[in-house]
Amino acid sequence: MNISVNPLVTKHSNLNSALRMTIGGAQVDARDGSTMPVIDPSTGRQVATIPEGKAADADRAVKAARERFQSPEWRKMKPVARQRLLLKFADLIEAHADELAELESIDAGKPLAIARNSDLASVIDVFRYFAGWATKLTGETLDVSVPRMPDGEFFAYTKKEPVGVVVGITPWNFPISMASWKLAPALAAGCTVILKPAEDTSLTALRLGELALEAGYPDGAVNIVTGRGHEIGAALVAHPGVDKVSFTGSVATGQAIGRSALDKMTRTTLELGGKSPVIVMPDANLDWAVTGAAMAIFFNQGQTCTAGSRLYVHRTIYDEFVERVVEAAKQLKIGPAFEDGVFFGPVISEAHAEKVMSYVDTGRSEGVHLTLTGERLDRPGYFLSPTVMTGTRESMRVVQEEIFGPVLAAAPFDTEEEAIELANGTPFGLAASIWTENLSAAHQLAAQVQSGIVWVNCHNLFDPNLPFGGVKLSGLGKDLGRSAVESCLEQKSVMIRLQ
Ligand code: NAD
Repeated sequence: MNISVNPLVTKHSNLNSALRMTIGGAQVDARDGSTMPVIDPSTGRQVATIPEGKAADADRAVKAARERFQSPEWRKMKPVARQRLLLKFADLIEAHADELAELESIDAGKPLAIARNSDLASVIDVFRYFAGWATKLTGETLDVSVPRMPDGEFFAYTKKEPVGVVVGITPWNFPISMASWKLAPALAAGCTVILKPAEDTSLTALRLGELALEAGYPDGAVNIVTGRGHEIGAALVAHPGVDKVSFTGSVATGQAIGRSALDKMTRTTLELGGKSPVIVMPDANLDWAVTGAAMAIFFNQGQTCTAGSRLYVHRTIYDEFVERVVEAAKQLKIGPAFEDGVFFGPVISEAHAEKVMSYVDTGRSEGVHLTLTGERLDRPGYFLSPTVMTGTRESMRVVQEEIFGPVLAAAPFDTEEEAIELANGTPFGLAASIWTENLSAAHQLAAQVQSGIVWVNCHNLFDPNLPFGGVKLSGLGKDLGRSAVESCLEQKSVMIRLQ
C-alpha cells in the first residue's frame, strides 16, 4: 500500500513536533511540562511522547470552551455555518486519511488497511452525516389548554438549545472512530467540545485538534487534551464549567463518571462494555454464520465492545460449527500493523496481553475445554493467538466477564427459549447477533434479546444514522443517529399569553 504521510508524523521520524494538545486555539504542552510515552504495540517500542495534562490543563480547556460557547460570535453562528465547518473538517480528514490511518496503526496496532478502509472511512462519513443535522434541528409548537386560565389564549413551543460545553472521553480500541462519535454530534448541536482520548491511543485525536483549527473552528470550540483518566479525565468530569460528559469505556469508569457527574447534574451519555451473544439457529446460512461468528470475536483482536464473545449454536450443528470457527481462526494472518495482508494485529499493551492470557488460565481452572488454545507469541510486541473455549457453563467468569480479547466461549442450545435465556444471562446488554433464514424467528428472537442493537445475519456493522448504545450495565443513552445530536441539546419550553 502506498501511503503518503506527513513527514512530521511517520512512525520512523520525530513525532513530537506534531503532537501537542489543542487548547483555546493554541498548540500547547502540559502546563507542568509532563509527558507520557507513546508505545507501538506492534513492536513494544516507544515511538514518541505526548503531553500528560493534569487538572490545571483541564481547567484551562474548560475555560477556553466556556468562553467560546458564551461568545456572541459562537452563539449567533447560523446552522448552515456549523454545517459548513463540519463538512470542511470532514474534507480535511479525508485529505489526511492516509496519514491518520498510519498514526492509528502505530498507536493502536490496527492493521493499516483496516485502519484506512474501515476506521477512517467511517469517520469521514460520521462527520458528513452529523454536518447534515446542524441544519435540521427543530422544536415543536404545542396546543395547550392551561386549566387555570380557561379563557386565555396561548402560543406554546419548544426550542432546542445546545447543552453547552461537552467533554468527550474515549477508549483505546477505536480511537479516531470514537473521537468522531463524540466531536461531530456535539459540534452539529452548537456545543463547544473538549476531547480526552485514551492515554494509550492519543495520536489521531491530537492530529484532529490541528485539523479542526485548519478547518476554521474558532479558538476554544474544539479542544483536545491528553493525560491519565484518573487525573485530567476525572478533573474534567468534576469541573463545574462542563455541561455534558459523553463517555465510552469500561463499566467501572462509567459508573464512577456517572456518580461524579450527578453531583452537578451534568448530563451524561455512557457507552460501556459488553459480552455479546451470537445465536446460530439450525437453519442458518452456515457459510455466512461461520465467517460472521469468527469475525464477530476476532476482528480488532477481540478488542471490540460489541465483540461476539459468547457463541450459542443449535446442538444439531454445534460440533461442525465450532470446528469451522476454529479453522477460520487458524487462518487469520497475525502480524504487525504495517505488514501486508495482516488481519490480526497485536493487542494494545503488555498489561492487556497479560490480562487476556490470565482469562485463558481462568477458563482452564474453571474446567473449560480449550478447543483452540491462545498463546502469547514469542516475538516483540503484544501478539496473542485466538482462543476458543467449549464446555462452558453460564456461571463461569469467562462467560460472565468482558475479556476484551480474542477469546470465544461456545456452548450448544436446544430450544429458542434456552437460546434467549443464555443470551440474556449476563449483566451486559450492548449487542447481539442472530443467524437464521427464518424471518419470523429472526423478529421474535430480536424482540426478546436484551441489548441495544441486534444484528440479524451480520455482526459489528454500524451506520451513522443507526443509534448505538447499550442497556443494563452496558450503558445509558445513545451515540450516533439523531439521538446523539439530541443528547447535546436541551429542550426549552416557551409559553406566551396572547389574550
Ligand atoms: P477505561 O474505562 O479504562 O478508559 C476509557 C477512558 O476513560 C480513557 O480515556 C481513560 O483515560 C478515561 N478514564 C479512566 N478513568 C477515568 C476517570 N476516573 N474519570 C474520567 N475519565 C477516566 O476503558 P478502556 O480500557 O480504555 O476501554 C475499554 C472499554 O471500553 C471496554 O469495556 C469496552 O467494552 C468499552 N467500549 C465501549 C464502547 C461502546 O460504545 N459501548 C465502545 C468501545 C469500547
